[in-house]
Amino acid sequence: MVAVPVTDLKGVGTALALKLGKLGIHSVQDLLFHLPTRYQDRTRIRPLGSVQLGEEILIEGEVKLADIVMGRRRSLLCRVQDGTGQITLRFFHFNAAQKNAMRPGVLIRAFGEVRPGGAGLEMVHPEYQLVTGKWLAPPEQSLTPVYPMTEGLTQTRMRGLVRQAFTQFEQHPLPDLLPENLRQERALPELHAALRYLHQPPPNADQQALLMGRHPAQRRLALEELLAHHLSLTRIRHSIQQQGSWPMPEASDMSQAFLDQLPFSLTAAQQRVIAEIQQDLQRALPMLRLVQGDVGSGKTLVAALAAVQVIAAGYQVAVMAPTEILAEQHYQNFSRWFSALNVDVAWLAGKVKGKQRQQQLEQIATGGASVVVGTHALFQEEVKFARLALVVIDEQHRFGVHQRLSLREKGADGIRSPHQLIMTATPIPRTLTMSAYADLDCSIIDELPPGRTPVNTLVIADTRREEVIARVQQACAQGRQAYWVCTLIEESEALQCQAAEVTATHLAEQLPDIRIGLVHGRMKPAEKASVMEAFKSARLDLLVATTVIEVGVDVPNASLMIIENPERLGLAQLHQLRGRVGRGSVESFCVLMYHPPLSKQGRERLQVMRETTDGFRIAEKDLQLRGPGEVLGTRQTGMMQFRIADLERDADLLSEVQALAQPLYQHPKRVDALINRWMGSSEHYAQV
Ligand code: ADP
Ligand code: MG
Repeated sequence: MVAVPVTDLKGVGTALALKLGKLGIHSVQDLLFHLPTRYQDRTRIRPLGSVQLGEEILIEGEVKLADIVMGRRRSLLCRVQDGTGQITLRFFHFNAAQKNAMRPGVLIRAFGEVRPGGAGLEMVHPEYQLVTGKWLAPPEQSLTPVYPMTEGLTQTRMRGLVRQAFTQFEQHPLPDLLPENLRQERALPELHAALRYLHQPPPNADQQALLMGRHPAQRRLALEELLAHHLSLTRIRHSIQQQGSWPMPEASDMSQAFLDQLPFSLTAAQQRVIAEIQQDLQRALPMLRLVQGDVGSGKTLVAALAAVQVIAAGYQVAVMAPTEILAEQHYQNFSRWFSALNVDVAWLAGKVKGKQRQQQLEQIATGGASVVVGTHALFQEEVKFARLALVVIDEQHRFGVHQRLSLREKGADGIRSPHQLIMTATPIPRTLTMSAYADLDCSIIDELPPGRTPVNTLVIADTRREEVIARVQQACAQGRQAYWVCTLIEESEALQCQAAEVTATHLAEQLPDIRIGLVHGRMKPAEKASVMEAFKSARLDLLVATTVIEVGVDVPNASLMIIENPERLGLAQLHQLRGRVGRGSVESFCVLMYHPPLSKQGRERLQVMRETTDGFRIAEKDLQLRGPGEVLGTRQTGMMQFRIADLERDADLLSEVQALAQPLYQHPKRVDALINRWMGSSEHYAQV
């Protein structure tokens, strides 16, 4: 169906179209999907004797008195009675004609919010109409929608546009894209009826349900949107797989040589996941696999073994991490592991500049380097790969879908597309995986390497700070290392860094014998790296840090972590942080030093941290307590933005989505239409 631009509507010129565009409304159809956030009830006249403060209502009564009073502000007051009670209408902006028209005995109808006034109930600047000669029109037939707005647009205008849009579609209603039988099985309202209901609910509509987004008409739309989203991801997958990839034969010898140099053997979980990957790589279809594994489960090694198979076949591997610290750590690991096999590893990050950069770029372009490790610097135009056939992305949720896909394009030769391996340490509950990563197969490393002792977690009020400091002193005196993590509520990174600086100074005063380092997000990457390096090589005992150390840093000798104000962080983030300790064989501790008083939810969350170190349980709990946006880290990446659905509110619909999607694959036209309706142009990246 061709989209009709809003400018086709009466009274919509370019200026108004621009404003509508800000609300995501480009076509007449978009108007129908721009749903009200709430409703006003102008369908009934409410007796004044029964109204409550705060209600927005329609009233009608006789004007008793209208007077200009000079209070703090000059205002026009109009006293209205309806036989059950009375109310004062207050106007600050008015003219003489208005006042004169409000003659005692005249009938007035007003709509507004009831507030407490100096003399009983009051409405400030209500919308009103007077009965002068002709009768008032009957009240509205349906609830009045209140739409999400942008500057320069009024509700009245918006309502008019939506009405016009409905008239346009009256002749050719939007097709219902859900197959009839599916809709009937689930007793879902028909699309056009649902939309009409939501824009013009009948007077008896369940407003509470509408406000909560739980009305069947809303659920129907949410389900359709989730379905469209799911279909679009599976279509991306399908279109990638259409392209084919380079099959990589098994490389047993090189894999064995790689494993032989390791001081340990793989865990059963690592072996299982690697086997899954190795099979994927042997196929002529691009691998699309997500590896989930708790912090410390050994994902890097799994990636390295995948790389081995690709390198053995003569192709290149790109490994991308979200931060320089992490990327550098990967670079070190990969260089160490691969130098034994005479494989060159290139390194590309923002800080790699000048001649060194040219050299690396050349290595990548000529294929001299078989492995390329870096940050998003790898996306840049100037980076050309000779034979890229595997893209490994670590800590996926920090990159958006688009970034992930754009790196893939680096390897595509128009016919084939590289294999993709995505690794995340944030365990993602299953329902979410299905919707957020429907384009990926999923492997789970559900086992930690042996010899780790679970971290003991203590929850302590910051009134006991001295004790905690003494504990740090003791641990460092025994040759252990510790982290001290500072958090702040404010979004401002500057403030957070400042807080860490202050803490580091205080701790230095209180612990004169301890070598203290500081790392935070505002330091230059090189500074950060050198502090991390000093800590790693045990030239520092205590590392004061902001949450920048969250991801991936590996210092096995660190066995104590203090987290200040843990109540400010999400569970997933706490879990990530805590995963920095407990990497060696000594018993480790994590002290959650909260600032009292804790809210009920706060207590509950810290309790979860104390009870379990199982990332999946923590993720489930996090999902329950904070919702999917936070869990997936999509707030920042904007990866999943829904118009109507809300993953939290509609979580129960997710399990239906897959079942609904299945029979639809037989109707590719409907699938296209659904995706087009809900995702519109945002899906352009699906076409490679
Ligand atoms: P993550 O899954 O958090 O990325 P890493 O890959 O950084 O974990 O691994 C954490 C640590 O565990 C590293 O020091 C790594 O060398 C080590 N490791 C990985 N696999 C094993 C294993 N099978 N046995 C012992 N140690 C391992
Ligand atoms: Mg890692």
